[in-house]
Amino acid sequence: MKTLGLIGGMSWESTSEYYRIINQVAREKLGLARSCRSIIYSFDFAEISDLQHSGDWETLTKKMVDIAVLLEKAGADLVLICTNTMHVMAGEVQEAIGVPLFHIADALAMEIKEKGMDKVGLLGTRFTMEKEFYSKRLKEKHGIKTIIPSEKDRDIVHNVIYNELISGKFLEKSAEEFLKVIAKFKNNGAQGVILGCTEIPLLLKDVKTPLPLFDTTRIHAQKAVELSLEES
Ligand code: GLU
Repeated sequence: MKTLGLIGGMSWESTSEYYRIINQVAREKLGLARSCRSIIYSFDFAEISDLQHSGDWETLTKKMVDIAVLLEKAGADLVLICTNTMHVMAGEVQEAIGVPLFHIADALAMEIKEKGMDKVGLLGTRFTMEKEFYSKRLKEKHGIKTIIPSEKDRDIVHNVIYNELISGKFLEKSAEEFLKVIAKFKNNGAQGVILGCTEIPLLLKDVKTPLPLFDTTRIHAQKAVELSLEES
């Protein structure tokens, strides 16, 4: 079994989900007493969020690169950035380390294709929905087309993430707002919906939705364990 290096704390709510899932998957695959070898670095999210909102992606890139290098030095064989948004600098992170960075969109694409889909709605932070790093990779590398919400709906989704979810607030009224956006995706021909922010699955945990959901936290964590076992 390889050792996973997790760049987490963005937010810790979702990193604790990664930790739970990687260990559950290891147990299911390997036996009851087994768990996943892992090293976690957990950021103080406020420092990350402030830099994102001031547009200082250069400092953010340096931070991600430094921690990826640290994890590699500590013995990680496979590195994961435990957030969709912070894949903005996935290229720089991969270049700085000698072990693979397992990209969240590649994990996600595997599952979308397994389900035979090629057109899906995308929910996430404004950065993930609007910057090219995510949808372009899905389209160009995997042939998957994404639909994003209207400007007004992107605002709603982004604000719920930063004002509520990353503080551990999962409110019914916000889940209802997300459901309205998902219904619009359906009307626009989406076959499924990417929960492209690692806290959204916690908000929609027990909610029935009109389209199948792609939970990036579960998919990324699960496929990373499968990959680490395959290659050993
Ligand atoms: N966890 C979220 C994501 O998957 C938002 C936090 C962040 O900006 O990294 O994008």
